[in-house]
Amino acid sequence: MKLDFPDCASWIEINRQAFENNTKIYRKLIRPEQLLGCVLKGNAYGHGFLQVLEVLHNMVDLIFVINPVDAFQIREYEKQSNSVQKRVVVLGSISLQEALKCAEKDIEVVIDGPHWAEYAQAMEMNFAGKPLKAHIHIDTGLGREGFTLENLAEKIEFLKIHQDVLKPIAIMSHFSNVEDVTHQEYAEQQIKKFNQAYDIVVDTTQPSHKLERHIAQSASTAIMPQAQYDLARVGISLYGLWPSSETKISAKVMHQNLPILTPVLSWKCKSQLVKKIPSGSYVGYGCSYKAPRDLRICLLPVGYFDGYPRMLSNKGYVLINEHQCKVLGRVMMNHIVVDVTDTTTDESPVLATLIGTDGDESISVELLAEWAETINYEIVTRIGAHLKRIVVD
Ligand SMILES: *Cc1c(COP(=O)(O)O)cnc(C)c1O
Repeated sequence: MKLDFPDCASWIEINRQAFENNTKIYRKLIRPEQLLGCVLKGNAYGHGFLQVLEVLHNMVDLIFVINPVDAFQIREYEKQSNSVQKRVVVLGSISLQEALKCAEKDIEVVIDGPHWAEYAQAMEMNFAGKPLKAHIHIDTGLGREGFTLENLAEKIEFLKIHQDVLKPIAIMSHFSNVEDVTHQEYAEQQIKKFNQAYDIVVDTTQPSHKLERHIAQSASTAIMPQAQYDLARVGISLYGLWPSSETKISAKVMHQNLPILTPVLSWKCKSQLVKKIPSGSYVGYGCSYKAPRDLRICLLPVGYFDGYPRMLSNKGYVLINEHQCKVLGRVMMNHIVVDVTDTTTDESPVLATLIGTDGDESISVELLAEWAETINYEIVTRIGAHLKRIVVD
């Protein structure tokens, strides 16, 4: 085994070129004057917030995060690396104190409910000279954050009075099921409501400038040109993953020669131990696997604590020496055991690929999601934040 591996049990590799490739594809999918925003929520979809920030900062026009703390970190990063200041939008919930700090640091926020009327009042009293730029979130059918259309004018009346401290610059919404279907009737209804809401917001708040509009995430950016508006909020696809197989099919039908998204993340692991066990012995908790013959097994120091789903017990496989090696017995907190009887000739240490490519073999995030009966989004965001992320060129 090569010895130039990182000094850790298992680690994540982040491929810079893959990001570049995926960003270029999405630049081509949007209109020339449309802005490309990347979404760095969930520890950058589990890819590692700081590593992804460093790679993507130059490639996109604006950055969306959930937590204001992440937005402050972006401003820190820009200061330390002497980078230009990008537009940063906090999508998630935020306290009054954080809102004041966002105004000071020119970070944009999302007005997601009536509590912003109180925030605006408090901000009048603490006004430091810079208005807080805000995106008004309209709930057009997801049933999550934002204002529904019923009595919308009344609900956002407060915005008219406080524009000196809380300045609406955009209206936004989020789709409910674009990924789940190949016919987009529900999304079309959402767009209709979004357009109605836009007129109401403009009527009510009488902004002095044109409000930006945005509703598109990865899926609709790829397959619904009518949803593009002024900017795109692209998450999963910049990481090289399709939102769903339905979206992938729709995109292939729509675009001839659709360029291929490249997965950004690989997950590798060094063996802790390779050893022989005799026929008839058991492997792992619960004695759920019994060796049908003499085996050579490999213990890998990775488990469900690290985000390797327990559902993969007796089901998944990893790649070693360009071959599939089955997971034997249960996935444990910090360990899995795999069968290397036919892929090794002795007990020397090996390198395993849990996600990624080894020779002609590869294991996709989607395959793990299928085994674990979940979606690719959950597989990557659950990869432990404690694991080392390494950017490879
Ligand atoms: C997560 C999220 C996105 C990005 O979604 P993807 O499917 O990953 O592209 C965009 N907008 C909002 C509001 C989100 O919460």
